[in-house]
Amino acid sequence: MSILVKGGLVVTQNWKREVLRGDVLVEDGKIAAVGHAKARPEETVDASGCIVMPGLINCHTHVAMALMRSVADDVKLDKFLDKTFAIDAKRTPEDIEVGATLGCLEMARSGTTTFVDLYYSEDVIAKSVEQVGLRGYLGWTVLDEKFTTQKGNPINNCENFIKAHRGRALVKPIVAAQGVYVCSDETLMQAKDLAEKEKTFCHYHLSETRPEVYEYLKKTGKRPAEHLADIGFLSKGDLAAHCVWLTINEVRTLAKAGVSAVHCPTSNMKLASGGVAPLPEMFNENVNVSLGTDGCSSNNGLDMFLEMKFASLLQKSSRWDAAVLPAQKCLDLATVDAAKALGAEKELGSIEVGKKADLVILDCMRPSMIPVSLESAVANIVYASPSHAVRDTIVDGKFILRDRKMVNIDERAFLVKAENSATDLLRRTG
Ligand SMILES: [Zn+2]
Repeated sequence: MSILVKGGLVVTQNWKREVLRGDVLVEDGKIAAVGHAKARPEETVDASGCIVMPGLINCHTHVAMALMRSVADDVKLDKFLDKTFAIDAKRTPEDIEVGATLGCLEMARSGTTTFVDLYYSEDVIAKSVEQVGLRGYLGWTVLDEKFTTQKGNPINNCENFIKAHRGRALVKPIVAAQGVYVCSDETLMQAKDLAEKEKTFCHYHLSETRPEVYEYLKKTGKRPAEHLADIGFLSKGDLAAHCVWLTINEVRTLAKAGVSAVHCPTSNMKLASGGVAPLPEMFNENVNVSLGTDGCSSNNGLDMFLEMKFASLLQKSSRWDAAVLPAQKCLDLATVDAAKALGAEKELGSIEVGKKADLVILDCMRPSMIPVSLESAVANIVYASPSHAVRDTIVDGKFILRDRKMVNIDERAFLVKAENSATDLLRRTG
């Protein structure tokens, strides 16, 4: 199957960060040419007046929580957790599937082609991912048995999930760990060993709030990242979400270990976690940084365009420096740097020959996207909040959103079902 995406403003995200007017040729799921393609494709898609860009990569979410949108707003973290845990405990596998599909639809419509998930029941979530056609790195979450509502042993559940989902085109099974506050050293080391054995990586929450860090310090005498380095848990290729409350020594520790960070600015601001993730220090010390929305109860959306904007504004505002996180770097965090965080820099994150064809086409014939030029395309992507301009989303060379219509699912019928499921779930939880 070959598709020629013709005449767009192509934001390549290649090593030169070129933005050019031209074509993108897709053949058999991969990018076959960029610029002027001499080809006789089976299909030609007109992209004049459009931006063609790499699909965005959301490196931290809990996709099934989309069904729990706006259930716990404007409260402190402890109340937030009480409320979301109470609802979570009442959820059926069907609620999880509906929530995951809802989240996948939202991401496909807002320019995200790949996401990383941290949750349980990832076997159910995998079905939603494959149905919608997104690319999902799905981490079955490991924690101490005494803290979990999972049936059986979380490590065994995670291992079984990985074994059953190896070698799939869109679903990549990974290991996830909830965080030091519910994981003993033993559980964490089991997670690390499993990731090594299965040749994948480990994704976990790290130093999201100050109380979490201080309680840990009281308990172990060490800050979380220091302790995790001491016990030999931190491993090259790990992906640590939040990383708000890190000292400069911890930043260096992550750099030394080869751990990537996922910055989640909206979630951190909304839950009033206090503090701001030290991105400039991470950049200086060569920690690879990516972006994530976190779940829908703490965000309340999965829009990576907004995440890029808020990441930039939060740093500018807190550092009194308008240049501290420019638009280009923000786009890098959500594309090429995110691909690196997944160990997929040769396959994802940019529009270059040989990479997987994960593309987004933005229709710029909208008041909020004009003017747009080679020079302003990246700034429009980051600062003009263009999720409403997403016309087409292509994953693995296949349209999953085409001319604003979801391809693989009857979206309207599904949304009615999701509304009913959410109402029913909230009624059950009181
Ligand atoms: Zn999270």
